[in-house]
Amino acid sequence: METTLIILKPDAVQRGLIGRIIGRFEEKGLQVVGLKLMRISPDLAARHYESHQGKPFYDGLVKFMTSSPVVVMALRGVGAIAICRKLMGATFGSNAEPGTIRGDFGVSNSFNLVHGSDASESAARELELFFGAGEIQELDRAIEGWVYDISSGEPE
Ligand code: UDP
Ligand code: MG
Repeated sequence: METTLIILKPDAVQRGLIGRIIGRFEEKGLQVVGLKLMRISPDLAARHYESHQGKPFYDGLVKFMTSSPVVVMALRGVGAIAICRKLMGATFGSNAEPGTIRGDFGVSNSFNLVHGSDASESAARELELFFGAGEIQELDRAIEGWVYDISSGEPE
């Protein structure tokens, strides 16, 4: 099982899309194990996006991410990181495929509704930035054996 960090960016919250976007991840079968509404500080935005420092879009990105509250989520599942990236779609709303979150709900390249960790190292780092001790739940989902084939003993 992997856990990944998803952020519903300020545009998603302002546009009233929280429920519909969370629904995309839930209906796919991912477990919500952490969830909160918060305002990202400039310092936290800088740490979260440290790999983009110095890029032309960096200042605008930090301004955007700190401009209004966001929803942060920890999502869990087998292959959750890659599955979430696929559900999100390509970075730019202008060319994200229909059927993806970015493809269905937006047209902007910078205001693209959702962040998702891109690898296991970044997921671990980002989850630690946004969730404190005890804020991520361990839950035995009653439906687990219908979401996954667990006949081998491992979810697949
Ligand atoms: N971004 C932007 N212009 C660009 C590239 C990225 O405004 O040319 C913003 C966009 O909001 C994107 C974020 O910076 O989601 C982080 O970029 P990254 O390349 O990591 O894309 P992601 O992993 O979010 O798909
Ligand atoms: Mg990225």
